[in-house]
Amino acid sequence: MSIINFGSINIDYVHRVPHFPQPGETLAATSFEKGLGGKGANQSIAIARANGDIKHFGQIGADDGWVLDILKNAGVDTGKVAVTDTPTGHAIIYVDDSGENNIVLNGGANQTFTNDAIEAALADATASDWLLFQNETNNIDHALNVAQKNGMKIAYAAAPFDAQRAASIIPHVDLIAVNEIEAQQLAQASGKPIDQLECDYVLVTKGEKGAELRTPSGTFTSTSFKVDAIDTTGAGDTFLGYFLAEFDKGTDPERALKIASAASAIQVTRLGAASAIPTYDEVQTFLE
Ligand code: ADP
Repeated sequence: MSIINFGSINIDYVHRVPHFPQPGETLAATSFEKGLGGKGANQSIAIARANGDIKHFGQIGADDGWVLDILKNAGVDTGKVAVTDTPTGHAIIYVDDSGENNIVLNGGANQTFTNDAIEAALADATASDWLLFQNETNNIDHALNVAQKNGMKIAYAAAPFDAQRAASIIPHVDLIAVNEIEAQQLAQASGKPIDQLECDYVLVTKGEKGAELRTPSGTFTSTSFKVDAIDTTGAGDTFLGYFLAEFDKGTDPERALKIASAASAIQVTRLGAASAIPTYDEVQTFLE
């Protein structure tokens, strides 16, 4: 049983600035960091840290092999990541002194998946495998078609959120994951309460308030652990990655939610997104 993540890989260029530049202004950054980002990559790393069987299906540009090294070192199988002529997707991020940010995103190679590439990546997938995807890659409809033909189970992290798009994708997936705000927008856009969506498993994370999973055999909830959160970037990705890895292993929903809550509680106490995701051992120790 594998999870194949048709997911974005981004490079984040984070510049600290005294203020956001005005039109025509040239401004010196006070510090700079370059790192791996993208919801897809974050989720793959979370699944790998949870000891899940994860194959990342993504695309990067030339000269960015270091990105693959980070994924591999975390335990992600990168055999389905292709190097393309288009540069790796990236985000230019400015963070000002008040912590406010300003982001320019370039989808790059995340937006150039062809039908052939999708068919090749999913050719060996079977009904016991999951396809996981988000909204940061192109050609999702084709991936859904191929996954359905192969009988795969399908999980959708509906972010960055687009209510119309989510409403049209939901009937084709087995599991959808949203946060509380997205859940409200989805209920509005689809005209149905979230518990009437045409999807077997609906996972709603609610920040400090916990999480809820609706299943065909009832609704399960978990509370969040009380921690001193310093950076919640990537909390939802950590939760979903850990939850899906546990669910795929056959862990019962209540326990899977608890493990995912513990993993994301640790993650929010550390700076960063992917690099802040704890190992399985750290999560077990936290729960003892
Ligand atoms: P997203 O990052 O997608 O907006 P949430 O904010 O709902 O997702 O966070 C996902 C999960 O991370 C929550 O369900 C919870 O388990 C955990 N989490 C987030 N913020 C905190 C916090 N301040 N304290 C403890 N756990 C948190």
